[in-house]
Amino acid sequence: MSQQCVDPIVGKILAGWRYDISGLAAEMRGDYEQHLAACERCRGRQRVHRIIDVGLIALASVSAGVFLLAFGVIRHFGPRHAFWLEIAALTGFALSALIWLVVAVATPVPVTVMDAAKQGARRVHDRLPEEIRQRLPEELRIKITGT
Ligand SMILES: [Zn+2]
Repeated sequence: MSQQCVDPIVGKILAGWRYDISGLAAEMRGDYEQHLAACERCRGRQRVHRIIDVGLIALASVSAGVFLLAFGVIRHFGPRHAFWLEIAALTGFALSALIWLVVAVATPVPVTVMDAAKQGARRVHDRLPEEIRQRLPEELRIKITGT
């Protein structure tokens, strides 16, 4: 799987952005969207980067939860040196929360997650019987289907 980029210059720019074009203005985005549609290599890399982003968020969430749990356990059992253990647990929690925040702000995870949620909602919507679909509020239907 050593595909060549169809346009290395554009590919390099995209790589610099970690293949994230969600922050670009719509009129600037067109060229890059075209490239991603045409270039299998960049499309694959884009997918990998988004998986990494979501993975990091998931990892930071789990890690924050574990540190919080540790804090609760220390509080509950009150072992010797409890104070320093509590500090360590809280520091771990704060660091995990910070990583979570940085990834959420610096990467298109919110966009990725929103897109996935929208796609899921659309799939459910398309499977609904016609009479129920008609009863959905107009606003909601527009939000789900985009039409
Ligand atoms: Zn490319």
